[in-house]
Amino acid sequence: MADTLNLKEVIIAYRKLSFSDQAAFYAMVPNDFCLTDGNLQSFLIETRISADHGCIYCGSSHVVKNGIRKDGTQRFLCRDCKKSFLPTSESVTSRTRKTLSVWASYLKCMLDKKTLREASEECGISMSTAFSWRHKILDALHEINGKVLLDGTVEADETFFDVSYKGNHKNFELPREPHKRGHSVRTKGLSSEKVCVPCAVNDAGFSYARPGKTGKVSSDCIKKIFDGVIAPGAVLCTDNEKAYAGFASSQGIRLVQTDTDCRVTHRQGKAYGIQRINAWHSRLKGFLHRFRGVSTKYLENYLVWNDVLENSQRSREEVMELLLSQILTVRISLRNRDIPCRPPLPAL
Ligand SMILES: [Zn+2]
Repeated sequence: MADTLNLKEVIIAYRKLSFSDQAAFYAMVPNDFCLTDGNLQSFLIETRISADHGCIYCGSSHVVKNGIRKDGTQRFLCRDCKKSFLPTSESVTSRTRKTLSVWASYLKCMLDKKTLREASEECGISMSTAFSWRHKILDALHEINGKVLLDGTVEADETFFDVSYKGNHKNFELPREPHKRGHSVRTKGLSSEKVCVPCAVNDAGFSYARPGKTGKVSSDCIKKIFDGVIAPGAVLCTDNEKAYAGFASSQGIRLVQTDTDCRVTHRQGKAYGIQRINAWHSRLKGFLHRFRGVSTKYLENYLVWNDVLENSQRSREEVMELLLSQILTVRISLRNRDIPCRPPLPAL
């Protein structure tokens, strides 16, 4: 018979460990104890099928258990639409051969901003799997999180990233001579080789950024990106870029612009500037630098990722719980082959 320990014996065994092993054990427990395949499966059954959810396809509550697969996954059958499904069907994790606990460790790698190589080593998956999981997760996050509403004092400014056509292989004709690896775009100023990314952050630390178009910022681009993002009662602070004036007046938002030297402006005893957004830009650049040249077509996904990490003033465990409950349960149909199918430049 296999040796199994009861709780008392575990505690006795724990006390016999060396101090460093006790510390290692303790460090593992709070993060990993609940992320077993069995627990994750029960969580998905509970949140996606049981109670008032029912059939994943038609929502009918006429669902019965329909055997267990070799890998231990519970199968279900809907008596109404006659479809058979799993707790992971129509989700980010469906149609993959890896178990839920591998997905959970991958989410943890994303929380820690790990590179593809680091994540693939840690989770025991290939680089190409790590790549498609990253974008499946980010596509799902994008769908779940949508737009935030920034209130209070909101600082906005645009930042620019070199256009990169990396990852556009099939039938793609590069519109210019390729750049040498590691060399940034040489052109000075705001050329069509730079993507404009309008970003905003409020005094509570919540932020929003999306790729605009290539070249200089326009009021049309600001309107499209910030429509519904800046609360009507907010005070918007920007540099003296005219594009923001049209947006603010069309939305009835109070606008405070700095002078040409971007100095702090005082209004009714309050100081307004754009230091917060400038610091935010530096953090964004630092975040993207880890990934060594993000392809422009995936830039939006990286901005969503950065927003989720920036916007969560929660503990690491809380963000992880949020990721698990959102990413693993959201109904989404994504295939690996669809991931690269997005326009090489922002559609705006
Ligand atoms: Zn059904």
